[in-house]
Amino acid sequence: MKHVYTHDNTMIVNSAKNILALNGIESVVKNDAISHIHARHGINNTFCELWILNDQDFDKAVSIIETEVKYPEVKEPWTCAKCKEENEGSFDLCWNCQTEKSQEST
Ligand SMILES: [Zn+2]
Repeated sequence: MKHVYTHDNTMIVNSAKNILALNGIESVVKNDAISHIHARHGINNTFCELWILNDQDFDKAVSIIETEVKYPEVKEPWTCAKCKEENEGSFDLCWNCQTEKSQEST
């Protein structure tokens, strides 16, 4: 057993567990029980831990968590080369003039 991730949001830790499962890595979430005890006292900030069952999965698990849980791909906003409007990173066309996002714009 190796500890790979800690977060105070059970939902996020469980989603990390699901992502690892999709990659064939078995893991368990710890501290769920403790958070229930704390919840009765109005404390909801107990940290939840994610542990993998097989130590040899550690490196893979850490890199998956790094790329998919901690830092999911966020596209940088970009500036239209034609009209200089700033666009959301998820847009492929300028919202203002429909010019395609070009490689020179950042
Ligand atoms: Zn534009």
